[in-house]
Amino acid sequence: MDNKIKVRDKEFGIYLTAQEIDLAVSRVADSINHDMKGKVPLFLVVLNGAFMFASDLLKKIKVDNNISFVKLSSYTGTRSSQVVSELIGLNEVVKGRTVVILEDIIDTGLTMKRMLEILRQQEAADVKIATLVYKPGAFTEDYKIDYIGLEIPNDFILGYGLDYDGFGRNLPDIYKIVE
Ligand code: 5GP
Repeated sequence: MDNKIKVRDKEFGIYLTAQEIDLAVSRVADSINHDMKGKVPLFLVVLNGAFMFASDLLKKIKVDNNISFVKLSSYTGTRSSQVVSELIGLNEVVKGRTVVILEDIIDTGLTMKRMLEILRQQEAADVKIATLVYKPGAFTEDYKIDYIGLEIPNDFILGYGLDYDGFGRNLPDIYKIVE
């Protein structure tokens, strides 16, 4: 592991090691296994960022489950002021299911709010949220986040699925921007 890396024009310093991340992923998996006993959850992996978290987490899940990879696409509606977002890639029926959303990071919470609205419209029986990283200082919403791997201050991070300008997603550790 390098202590300092340069990605594009920015310097990043090591912040959370692969080992610390693995411990956090295991804690989340243990809680999900406990809560989902006797249920068959549908995991929704929010692309792109959550792919690495989901891959490691799902290997530790012991209950029967289904997995779907989704993306929230935003496009401008017919009126230019109107920004609409929809969930693409959902190939399972959500109605009546226990859904667990797997997200890389919750910052302001707006993205997740939209996901929750869509899943409610589709009549999911129960929706749980699991995020690897949470920034409580940036969160402006009022819904509950059920499973949190790591809480961090309002710093920009990359690695372990998270990118800066499209780079750095493959890094096994998480780095923080050096101001
Ligand atoms: P929110 O809607 O919760 O404000 O933001 C969610 C999205 O913003 C995340 O899915 C992620 O793509 C991006 N994001 C927020 N904070 C960070 C960060 O520290 N690093 C990276 N790479 N992306 C972030």
